[in-house]
Parts: sequence; C-alpha cells; structure tokens
Amino acid sequence: MQDPFSNAMAQLNKVAKIKSFGDDIISRLRQPNRDIKVSIPVRMDDGTLKIFEGYRVEYNNVLGPYKGGIRYHASTNISEVKALAFWMSLKCAVIGIPMGGGKGGITVDPKLLSKSELEKLSRGWVEKLSDILGPHKDVPAPDVNTTAEIMAWMADEYGKITGDKTGAVITGKPIESGGSLGRDTATAQGGFYAFEALKEKLGLNKKCDVAIQGFGNAGANAAEIWQAAGHKIVAVSDSKSGVCNREGLNIEKVLQHKKATGSLFGFSKDERGCTDITNEDLLEMECDLLIPAAFENVITEHNADKIHAKAILELANGPIDSAADEVLFKKNITVVPDVLANSGGVAVSYFEWDQNLKNEHWTRDEVFEKLQPMMAASANKVFETAKISNTDLRMGAFILAIESIEQNQ
Ligand code: GLU
Repeated sequence: MQDPFSNAMAQLNKVAKIKSFGDDIISRLRQPNRDIKVSIPVRMDDGTLKIFEGYRVEYNNVLGPYKGGIRYHASTNISEVKALAFWMSLKCAVIGIPMGGGKGGITVDPKLLSKSELEKLSRGWVEKLSDILGPHKDVPAPDVNTTAEIMAWMADEYGKITGDKTGAVITGKPIESGGSLGRDTATAQGGFYAFEALKEKLGLNKKCDVAIQGFGNAGANAAEIWQAAGHKIVAVSDSKSGVCNREGLNIEKVLQHKKATGSLFGFSKDERGCTDITNEDLLEMECDLLIPAAFENVITEHNADKIHAKAILELANGPIDSAADEVLFKKNITVVPDVLANSGGVAVSYFEWDQNLKNEHWTRDEVFEKLQPMMAASANKVFETAKISNTDLRMGAFILAIESIEQNQ
C-alpha cells in the first residue's frame, strides 16, 4: 500500500500529464515550504516524563495563511501530515477561501491519556510551535481525535504566550471560546451540499441507499444529515465493528448505543433486521452512495474492483489511492473527491477566523446560508472542469486548485 504522501504525489504527477501548467507550480507543489518536527515532554500522572513527537507542515501559503487541522493518532507520522497538508492547499483553493494549506499532528493514542495529560500535551504542542503560528501566519483546527476542547486549550496557551486573545489563531473552538456555530457539523453538511449539487449528474436523483465507513465527527453527522433528508442509511462502521440493515438503520438509536458503550459492537443483537458487518464488507456492499469518513487508503488496487457503490463521496482525506481511482473511473463509479467533498469543514473554519477578527457572531442559519452556495458553486465548477478535460472529478478539482494557486503566486 502506498504511503499517503506518495499517493498525493502520484495524483500531482497525474494532473501534470492531463493539463499543462507552468513547470514552476508543479515543482513548488512537490514539497512543503517547511515541515517541522518537535519533541513535546509531558509529565505523566504517575510522575514519569514521556516525550511525544509532534509535527506541523506548512505546505503552501500563496492564497493566505497556512490552514489545516491537527491529528492525534498512534500511527500519525510526518509523511501522512505532509500529504494532508498538500491536500489542504488544494482544498482551500477549490472552495475559494483565502487560505493556504498546512497540517499538524502528534503520534499518540489519545485514549491512553488522562484528561490532564492530554491538556499538557496539547499546550506543549502550541508552546513548541507558537513562533510559527498566528492568525495571519498559520491557523490550525481539529482533525481526527482532536476536539473543540483541545482547540480551546491551544487558543488559551497561544494567548498566554503571545498576548493575542482574538482566538483567531485556531478554529474549531467551543462556542464559548469564540467558536462558530455550525463548525461541528460543517464537514458533513458541506458534503451534503456538494452531493445535492451533483446528484442529478451522478444519476442519484432519488432516495439513496447510503453506506458510511467511519463513525466519528464526519461519519456520524453525515448519517444524521442524509437520513434527515430521507435517504436510507444501510450500514455504518467504526474502527472496531459495523452494523448493517438493508431496510435502513435508525441512526438515532445507533448513536445512543455508541455513546453508551463507546462502540457499535452489540448493536445488532437486539435490533430487528440488523446484522454485523466488517469494514471490508461495508466498502464492498451494494449501495447507491458510499461515504468513506475515516482514514486514508481504504480503497486501493486490492479492493477497487470489488466496489459496488454507484458513487463515492470522500468525507475522509485520501481514502482512495490513485491506482484505485483508475479502476473506479473505468467502472464508471464517480468519486466526489475529498478536496471538494470535505471542504465544508475548512470553509466554516474560515468563517470562524473571519468572525474572530471582526468580533462578530453569526447564527447557524447565516453560516449555512453562506456555506451552501460555496459548496454548490465549487461542485459545479469541478464537474465542468472535469468534463472539459475528459477526466474524473478529482483531477477536475486539482486542475481548478492548481490554476488558482498558479495565478496568485
Ligand atoms: N481537519 C479538517 C480538514 O481536513 C479541517 C481543517 C480546518 O478546519 O482547518 O479539512
């Protein structure tokens, strides 16, 4: 399996073959402006000192301050963070916000830390990187396993170190700490707006059977949003297990079970029509729309020819590698790519940053009234660009993004 950065570069090489850009822009996008590794010492509850490895990759800032989340995961490494930062650069360009691309991370399983250890680690990451962060320099946000509470600790730490109390250094904060209404569900909501804009073109202008891989912030909110719009959620899974019901799952009940027990395991036992399903089987099941909402590289050349969905919408970053893209394109399975499909998260992060700098507070309705037309316009532009170049939507999005960065550099 390709590591995420090799996959990102394979995508870049592919777009450079499809469309002729100036050599400079492709060369510039082959590596980040800088990648930084830091050691973060944390005094653990048992008195021992543990050193964690943290990262920030500042990929490209032609369009504005570096922007992108921070991931906490045991397998997070600099290559993954570099890939995610590259995709952020394109994502911000696709959705048309004045932000560049960056990403951060810490190699840690946060579930193994106490709350106070997690707070020390999060504050430690900011302490080590405070020089390069700033509302007009580099603006982090949440990603896998990082919460609004963690963002609040980080914003507070940055304020203590620098005196900047606007909160605009970081987005995805709790509302009481300057967060934006709607940020919590923005990734899934934005994906839904993109789906709505494209569904006719994808032949999905009907009630769809939807399978969702990943039941964290993006996946769980997507399940609620698609269900509320009348679609049938036929399967969901998290890292440990999954549940399936061809008649449609009751997502409210699934969420209650997950909240009470911490996993989806055991849900199907007492539910009529429900069976357990593995992650692999969920990806390969017959459905109208498959939404990968967890990690990179879940659809590769090993399983791409077994995918039976009519279309795929990537709420995760990088879930399909470039070899699998080729297979899916030939099978006529449309992929709504991550840099478009999950850009609602960073779009509302941009709204939060804007509100912080202007000291404004928008209502949830105002936020979504701004997000919907942005997502729809970007989705349509991506579709048209792909059509003109006779390529898939990912390459359509890449062409749009790279042209925009090139024109502004
Ligand atoms: N982590 C999210 C992403 O991958 C959001 C980034 C942000 O809000 O800056 O798009």
